[in-house]
Amino acid sequence: MATDTHPLSLPPDLVRLGAAPAGKEAAIREAAQLLIAAGCIDPAYADSMIRRETVANTFLGHGVAIPHGMVDDRNLVRRNGIAILQVPDGVVWNEGQTARLVVAIAAQSDAHIAILRRLTRLMQDEPRLEALFATTDPADLVAALSDESSMPATPASEAGDLAETFEWVVDYPTGLHARPAAAWVETARAAAGRVRIRHGGEAADGKTLVALLQLGLRPGDRITVSTDGPDARAVLNRLRATITGLSAREKADAAAAARKAKAVVQGWTPPAASGREMPVVAGIGASPGLAIGAVHVMPKADLTVPDRPAPLLEGGNRLHEALNLTRQQLKALADDTARRLGPAEAGIFAAQAELLNDTDLITLACQLMVEGHGPGWSWNEAVERSAATLAANPNPVLAARAADLRDVGRRVLTRIDPDLRGGSIRDLPDTPCILIADDLSPSDTAALDMGRVIGLATAQGGPTSHTAILARTLGLPAMVAGGGALTGLADGTTAILDGQSGRLYLEPSDADLAAAHGWFEEQRVRKAQQEERRGLPARTRDGHTVEIGANVNRPDQVAMALSQGAEGVGLMRTEFLFLERGDAPGEEEQYETYRAMLEALDGRPLIVRALDIGGDKQVPHLQLPHEENPFLGVRGARLLLRHPELLEPQLRALFRAAKHAREGALLIMFPMITTLREIETLRAVCDRIRAELDAPAVPLGIMVEVPAAAIQADVLARHVDFFSIGTNDLTQYALAIDRQHPELAAEADSLHPSVLRLIRMTVDGAEKHGRWVGVCGGIAGDPFGAALLAGLGVRELSMTPRDIPGVKDRLRDSDLAGLQDLARRALDCESSDEVRALEGGAS
Ligand code: PEP
Ligand code: MG
Repeated sequence: MATDTHPLSLPPDLVRLGAAPAGKEAAIREAAQLLIAAGCIDPAYADSMIRRETVANTFLGHGVAIPHGMVDDRNLVRRNGIAILQVPDGVVWNEGQTARLVVAIAAQSDAHIAILRRLTRLMQDEPRLEALFATTDPADLVAALSDESSMPATPASEAGDLAETFEWVVDYPTGLHARPAAAWVETARAAAGRVRIRHGGEAADGKTLVALLQLGLRPGDRITVSTDGPDARAVLNRLRATITGLSAREKADAAAAARKAKAVVQGWTPPAASGREMPVVAGIGASPGLAIGAVHVMPKADLTVPDRPAPLLEGGNRLHEALNLTRQQLKALADDTARRLGPAEAGIFAAQAELLNDTDLITLACQLMVEGHGPGWSWNEAVERSAATLAANPNPVLAARAADLRDVGRRVLTRIDPDLRGGSIRDLPDTPCILIADDLSPSDTAALDMGRVIGLATAQGGPTSHTAILARTLGLPAMVAGGGALTGLADGTTAILDGQSGRLYLEPSDADLAAAHGWFEEQRVRKAQQEERRGLPARTRDGHTVEIGANVNRPDQVAMALSQGAEGVGLMRTEFLFLERGDAPGEEEQYETYRAMLEALDGRPLIVRALDIGGDKQVPHLQLPHEENPFLGVRGARLLLRHPELLEPQLRALFRAAKHAREGALLIMFPMITTLREIETLRAVCDRIRAELDAPAVPLGIMVEVPAAAIQADVLARHVDFFSIGTNDLTQYALAIDRQHPELAAEADSLHPSVLRLIRMTVDGAEKHGRWVGVCGGIAGDPFGAALLAGLGVRELSMTPRDIPGVKDRLRDSDLAGLQDLARRALDCESSDEVRALEGGAS
């Protein structure tokens, strides 16, 4: 979310010294009057400020209060401003809390933290604050508080509908969960006026994710969406489009999940004649499969956060920085997950990032700091209070969001205090275990050591929790919502976990174990057959082989890719080395990473893509200039050529690594190439660095992502060793559709005939000079897409590891001649639908 930092000016006429209001309400009205007189707010905003006091405490601490209006009433703010009422004798704000400076804030933006930081800075300077309580010169207050600042948001109040309305019956099969809710909020936030979502007697501010989730909307609930403000009708139409537009995807996701669930084998049933009933803990099946082994109970996830008070300024800065870094980290995680696992899984992290924009959470953390608590403790406390409210909700979908909030809160916490990192998830026994936990965060689940954990059972959570989704993606048997009985189990208890039925059978008899092992063995053999085929080359029935690579960014992901049948890494997106952290890795660190990749691949090919920064992959810590249109701006090779301090250490690291690689095993490619001149310049830099390091020759290739490169492939091919087509970007640029566009992205189909023609041109151009062409964009991992690409003459396909078995099977079941015929027909199609319709008849 953008942070509005319009300066809040404080002219002397907005300061009133020596005030003596009769009470809190009088103080607020007096301060509000100053804002009204200065034209900052509509008179009605004063009432809103009073109302705000009934739902939240605006006493910041140390004699300072910050009254402000309800978020719903931000349209009553005419321009940003703050007014100060000095009350030397103090006014009782709440029991035991006396305000001597009343700082009334009027601002339209959401960002609360800037003004809070300014105030907290002041609060660490007690003598100065005391002086301000008594000063007779308004200039002292002006000097102390004139600063850039911005303003608050809070949950919606209960209220009726606004001017423009429409009704809608929730038809998302899993109700309003965080992913679609985040999309609603995004649309609502673009509106100048208010947006309200009402369900029966409960209403929520449509601009606040937590408030929206708290409605706990389920399928079949009838809601009224209402708006006001100057563009109310247009806003309503946009909202309607967002809300109803998501229905198809939500239904498709649910149908896909149901299909997946049906495709898996049914749950295991204990043998009837085993003589005695096995004790069983029943929960909800979250990820199918059977796990047999000893349980390991993870100590309760409550971590003790020490209260280490810090000077307010330092605490505020640490919180601010931690929030920013976490947002960056989540963005990187979402990007990486989207590319590795798919957009649905990536949405988890985007929705988590949205939870960080809850200004109530931030305000509460600041209040606690002002009370004298340390930043880590304060943040943790604020998160826990909010999560407890969510968890208490009877709607399981909503209650599951508590785990998300705690997860994202934990990320921020470890940024504030790195000592709190670590955690028991890494202290697992050496023999593979069924992991039992009160709850697991998505981060913990994603980071599980799959060599040591054979199954998961949690006391809390729900089948739609993100942890459950990730467990399914990882193929790990899991049950959730097993209740407190689970965490009371003794470590080492033998158990059989059935992730299909959501049962954990305890202390099985020998007969039970034998039956379970028998069943497990059957499954294992079936899986092993598949795995065996994964290991076979993607050779068509008539002997044509396509090389299969994996898109992998880190050495620790290589083993999993190889186990899926990868024959090498066809795309290592090195920008993720930069995106997942707060600083840039230097040459040495990069060198170590590339060497580790090569070692993990043990002589198999590794295609490393030079940094592709720009477009959707922004690296805030590089502080590159803002671009209006980053996809068409200084991105990829264009950026590298302008920043030798990024390009050269990377190339040095790569050529140093090449000295230890099998000949030809390391290949380098450059992203977003448009012109021959870029290739010539990059090749010259490579040649110079190679000579300086006395390193071996490394094949140099380019990504074909810009239509110009595809069209001129015959010219470019002379100067490179290979092409790898980035169909994600090639499609975006060929069809002029932003690949992240929420409405249009679904139309950006890489099987559009125009994209296929560009691919064909690339292959033809490459063949003229005896070069090979690969594809590493998403369509390579689609079995039908892969078949078409092979028919078009593509020799190498690189994809997300889990797509490999399906693609290999598809190619192994085909004949090259049939694939070529399919490609010819596809090139003649008029639309991508027509291309996709060829699927049924494809060989
Ligand atoms: C592509 O554009 O297809 C590609 C593989 O690169 P990225 O998705 O990283 O932009
Ligand atoms: Mg790309």
